[in-house]
Amino acid sequence: MLVGARIELTARIDALGSTAHPGEQGVIQEIHAGGHYTVRMDNGHTQFPRRNEMTSPGSRDAQLLGRARAALAQLGEGPTAPGRPDGSDLNGWSTGTPEIDRTTLAWAAAFTLLTDHQPDARPLAHVAGADAVLREEGVRGIATLQSNLAGGAPVDHRFTRCAYCGGHGEDPTFPTCEERGCLPKYEFVGHDHGCPVCGGEMWEPDWYGEQQIRYCDGLLADALPPAPPGRLVRLLRRA
Ligand SMILES: [Zn+2]
Ligand SMILES: [Zn+2]
Repeated sequence: MLVGARIELTARIDALGSTAHPGEQGVIQEIHAGGHYTVRMDNGHTQFPRRNEMTSPGSRDAQLLGRARAALAQLGEGPTAPGRPDGSDLNGWSTGTPEIDRTTLAWAAAFTLLTDHQPDARPLAHVAGADAVLREEGVRGIATLQSNLAGGAPVDHRFTRCAYCGGHGEDPTFPTCEERGCLPKYEFVGHDHGCPVCGGEMWEPDWYGEQQIRYCDGLLADALPPAPPGRLVRLLRRA
């Protein structure tokens, strides 16, 4: 995200008496220390989003968020869902889990996984499903969901694209070290925060596939009985 780059907001922000909504676009004018950006929005207003409140237009994140927003708008569903009440409190005064924010990338990722898996189901069922995924386990629920949809098999994110980060292995919400609870000695500029869903695995099926084939070749070669060179050539020819 450099000066001059076009951006799309992923969160609602307010500045100088005007409000900008997710999906609205603008151009970066200035980058400030402390993580804020000056953005001139297409409607002429200026906003000051942080890195985790914007993305590139047309990016995978923008598409997931746009799709979730459109579905919610069409169904007349709000941007939040109630959390889960604390079962130990009979009066229901305290909540066990916080309100579900349906404007987050995590919610959009869960909704998209469910919708792509069962395109014929009622969209409202997927809204309720995405709420439940985040209510039960938070962001980690996406990993559980991805595994469940694969029949309960463990998902190897080197070969299956992570539904949250899209396979690059970095936390797609660009949290600060403070938000992630990094030790102070790690708070240097430019250190990556691994994706909480895939654990930072890179989605590179071709590269890992070849590596896997070489590994299996090695196992096979070790398992073959020692044979004189002439016989080995004949064996390989037959294979
Ligand atoms: Zn950190
Ligand atoms: Zn990931």
